[in-house]
Amino acid sequence: MKEMLLVRYGEIGLKGKNIRSFEKKLVSNIRKAVASFPDAVVLDKHGRVVVEYEPHNQDAIIEAVTNVFGVVSVSPAVRMDRDIENLKVECLKLMQRLMEEQDIKTFKVETRRADKSYPLKTPEINQIVGAHLYKNLQPIKVDVNNPDIMLTMEIRNVAYVFSKKIPALGGMPYGSAGKGMLLLSGGIDSPVAGYLMAKRGLELEAVHFHSYPFTSERAMEKVIDLAAKLTKYTGNIKIHSVNILEIQKSINEHCPSEESTILARSFMMKIAEKLALKYNCKGLVTGENLGQVASQTIEGMNATNSMIEMPVFRPLIAYDKVEIINLAKKLDTFETSILPFEDCCTVFLPDRVVTKPRLEKIQASMDLLQVDELIEAAITSRDTIIISKGEVLKRS
Ligand code: ATP
Ligand code: MG
Repeated sequence: MKEMLLVRYGEIGLKGKNIRSFEKKLVSNIRKAVASFPDAVVLDKHGRVVVEYEPHNQDAIIEAVTNVFGVVSVSPAVRMDRDIENLKVECLKLMQRLMEEQDIKTFKVETRRADKSYPLKTPEINQIVGAHLYKNLQPIKVDVNNPDIMLTMEIRNVAYVFSKKIPALGGMPYGSAGKGMLLLSGGIDSPVAGYLMAKRGLELEAVHFHSYPFTSERAMEKVIDLAAKLTKYTGNIKIHSVNILEIQKSINEHCPSEESTILARSFMMKIAEKLALKYNCKGLVTGENLGQVASQTIEGMNATNSMIEMPVFRPLIAYDKVEIINLAKKLDTFETSILPFEDCCTVFLPDRVVTKPRLEKIQASMDLLQVDELIEAAITSRDTIIISKGEVLKRS
């Protein structure tokens, strides 16, 4: 008899080669998630992913595995020989242990015969094991509708027996969809957008734009803290920290002030795309949300899209602010996001902003600027910060 965690996964619709690469990535991500427990072993066999561990680590292992994207639910289980006489003995021991931990007055047994060659049919297994438990655990009763405990026996070439199913995050294994460049501001939205794309399997790298010394070091630390919260789900995140002060000054000097927001946004997209290409990212991710602020109109997004060729993922596009805030609270980024440090976008905020920019006008304004040189200079002088397990690993 050995204790372990049964891991359930599955995106409906995945088939053939796709399911194999999904499983491989999932198993490797689970291995990384439990790497700090020297006794934990992740096994990928009998059509099941299981994690073996030392019993005293159970809660921490469950916490780590349920935060791996792609895992749908987990069950702490006991593995035992599947011979029916052995099932009777071991299930009884297991029930006795469970009854010491919690008040159990009613039970039900359930069998899943994953191996159809097993000599007994499901109702027979239920009947034999159920009767044995009933006889030995009096005054316990059977309740088929609403039992205090449901003991499930999963019959493979061994038997896994469990009584609890703990929900996990679902989604796709992190990294299974390639890599994307997240435009990470210090606000509420972009960390949430990054989380949602990571949950669909997109590995994240991040770029943050600042206007130091007009924006402070503390504003940068805030962004680092936000990325650090995401590493709970992602593993290491690299942030490119890019100073766009010279770009903003140049826009201010040469272009109509009501266009400055959209122009700065255009530069951000172009820089993000350049970095994305350099670091093998296939798309950009932003926290944009239709109608939230003046620049987030269809026309505004169209204008910034027209500056680049890469796809831009905006997972929050149709969310309500309340929904975004609720997610931010769940991720524990909300309190950090609302800290009142200045943002590069507010440093040169004009009195009036164009909400429906015309592409030709924005392009004409861009033509007034030394776009390539400005971008090159900003990228060359960037800082890079690598965050691992909630902490800064390296700055350069
Ligand atoms: P957020 O809460 O994510 O800051 P927001 O509601 O403040 O979003 P905007 O400031 O218009 O909206 O920014 C829209 C998106 O553009 C952000 O979600 C983010 O992806 C990107 N962005 C804005 N400012 C920055 C920045 N300083 N660095 C990196 N990305 C940025
Ligand atoms: Mg913002």
